[in-house]
Amino acid sequence: MTATIQDAARGTDTRRPVRFTVTSASVGDSRARTGILDTPHGRVDTPVFMPVGTNATVKALDPDDIREVGARIILSNTYHLALRPGHERIRDLGGLHAFMGWDRAILTDSGGFQVVSLAQQRSIDEDGATFRSHLDGSLQRFTPEHAIAVQEALGADIAVCFDHPVPPHASARSEVADATERTHRWADRCLAAHTRPDQALFGIIQGGLEADLRMASTAFFASRPFDGLCIGGLAGDETPEQRRAVLDVVVPMLVDDPRPRYLMGLGSPMDLLDAVDAGVDMFDSVLPARVARNATLWVPGGKLNLRNARFLDDPRPVQEGCRCRLCRSFSRAYLAHLFRANELLAYRLATCHNLTFTLDFMARIRSAIADGTFPQLTRDLRAQAASRSPIDVVGS
Ligand SMILES: [Zn+2]
Repeated sequence: MTATIQDAARGTDTRRPVRFTVTSASVGDSRARTGILDTPHGRVDTPVFMPVGTNATVKALDPDDIREVGARIILSNTYHLALRPGHERIRDLGGLHAFMGWDRAILTDSGGFQVVSLAQQRSIDEDGATFRSHLDGSLQRFTPEHAIAVQEALGADIAVCFDHPVPPHASARSEVADATERTHRWADRCLAAHTRPDQALFGIIQGGLEADLRMASTAFFASRPFDGLCIGGLAGDETPEQRRAVLDVVVPMLVDDPRPRYLMGLGSPMDLLDAVDAGVDMFDSVLPARVARNATLWVPGGKLNLRNARFLDDPRPVQEGCRCRLCRSFSRAYLAHLFRANELLAYRLATCHNLTFTLDFMARIRSAIADGTFPQLTRDLRAQAASRSPIDVVGS
């Protein structure tokens, strides 16, 4: 066995901090599969959706709420925590799990996306990125080595390589190629810098919408000893067809690869369904929580805008039969009142519901894959979407 193949197999290596086991695969043309991701902070069933806790908090929820919606793993943002309150402070306070009171798994992202999307006066050179903080304008510098040091200080179960993402539609092919090759060089530096034995490290496949660049990037990351493979540069301004085309290039190249595949930033139910069908195991997005705070509640029949006056006299729960904190105890009328009165409880209850809806949707997908009905589920939900009934509204 060559060193490369041996190293690339670390997804199943029992000595690794995170282990991934595929437990069932869909039938027919679908590449959907279920799996178990064992982490130092517990077991995660895949396909999985990770709620986002940007500032070491899933906005409006406490850890009991996050547990109750069913989250086994959450994402937190390296860029934000490095700028505020500072990763060294969090390390000195016992690490991110202790700091935020969350004893299940955490993944920290690379910081690359925020450097590109949030930071000001950004300049990228071969060594790293210099930018001004979106918080106070202070001059900051991220290099691959610094991004790893930040994530080792935070101590998440899974860290992610510092990358150079580019928005596909706003970039010339030469820019995408340049950023992708730089991402590869930075990935090797992240591997060399990463030393924490109780923390996994994922790489990020880039390449925009260009099939040959995606193939080259997939081949590069498949040959390196990462614990999992992220697919970056999507969930932006591409169409669902363009996203699927990229996944249909990337995933078949990884068919014999034992590691989990994580599409960063995807969050609407129909998008999640399509990406699971294409063979993706892990997802994250702020979307369900963000729309909840805007009074948009996801339900199987579509979505409800609780700012609409018709809900002020509606005694029914937001979703009949939903197990969440909101639907168990409160009416649409009460939530509509809370939003109109700008009461803080509205954000918590609405977020609990939308995250419960999303995580239950993923559980339904996992069950369908395991019992062989995923193709039927996919057909049914796509037919509903095409007829503009139930799920299409939340999928937009
Ligand atoms: Zn509910």
